[in-house]
Amino acid sequence: MSGLLRLDGLTAGYGGATALDGVSLTLVPGEAVALLGANGAGKTTLMKAILGLVPAAGRVAFDGTDLAGVPTERRVRLGLGYVPEGRRVFPGMSVRDNLEVASFAAAARRRDRMERVFALFPQLRVKAADTAWRLSGGQQQMLAIGRALMGEPRLLLLDEPSLGLSPKLAAEVFAAVRAIADSGTAVLVAEQSTARALAVAHRVALLRLGTLLHDGPAEALPPDALRAAFLGVPGGVPGGDPLADARPGG
Ligand code: ATP
Repeated sequence: MSGLLRLDGLTAGYGGATALDGVSLTLVPGEAVALLGANGAGKTTLMKAILGLVPAAGRVAFDGTDLAGVPTERRVRLGLGYVPEGRRVFPGMSVRDNLEVASFAAAARRRDRMERVFALFPQLRVKAADTAWRLSGGQQQMLAIGRALMGEPRLLLLDEPSLGLSPKLAAEVFAAVRAIADSGTAVLVAEQSTARALAVAHRVALLRLGTLLHDGPAEALPPDALRAAFLGVPGGVPGGDPLADARPGG
């Protein structure tokens, strides 16, 4: 399978420091892939390299097109959606207007798109006329994701959408991630909460210090790899396994 997104030997850094070291990864339509890794593992840098927001060596191909030299706004037009960390919405605008201005499509299509966002996040429909700053953190995250969906992406890059959310709201956001993938949009979601990501992702890509340690089905994730990625202890952790609840079924 050729894949919707293909990364080959993606390498990026800041100054002399390497943040991403030869990462190869493929995503197909309808697939939710969890990008796991500790603080500083390179998750954000990977997303930025895909978008062309940081200089990178190696190859990024989207739907068969090599993106070398392609500016970010064109990548977005080709079908890349991005929700950076931190729920960026226009706080002074209504929920409806936040969604409205996120699309360049004709009015009928925009309405259709907004309807889909409201179907995915019923809370946003209820709050449609409210200004965004009145929303809870979870609702703002939903709105940020909704804004990205207004651009009708074929691949959605989500950077730590559960950050700072209550477990209940984070679960709602993750249920939406799975629903987005099930509707045909590929999703790459960076996450530090392993348990949550594993519960919804089809596949897991595990980063450690810029290197891909593991790429495969969530249920086949080797416990040692998870431990190594988060704790840097390849052989195990004395006194038990602090990540025991992080594996599928845990
Ligand atoms: P986090 O969960 O903290 O966002 P991450 O997995 O997304 O972590 P990155 O933000 O991609 O990791 O960072 C990867 C490495 O690159 C880290 O060592 C980080 O300190 C470094 N780094 C990231 N951004 C910059 C920058 N603008 N300038 C210098 N170094 C950076």
